[in-house]
Amino acid sequence: MSLFFLLRCPKCKNTMKYHTDTKILTEKRKKCVYCGFSMSVRKALEKKL
Ligand SMILES: [Zn+2]
Repeated sequence: MSLFFLLRCPKCKNTMKYHTDTKILTEKRKKCVYCGFSMSVRKALEKKL
């Protein structure tokens, strides 16, 4: 399974794509490609692509 989401960094407000192969995002973190902030994927989720 391949899923794409749009994440918005809570720190710098930039958006970026996030790819995952599971629907379970609870514990997932992603490092912002713009400012390096380590965000919670679930909380930063903007929409499903
Ligand atoms: Zn950021």
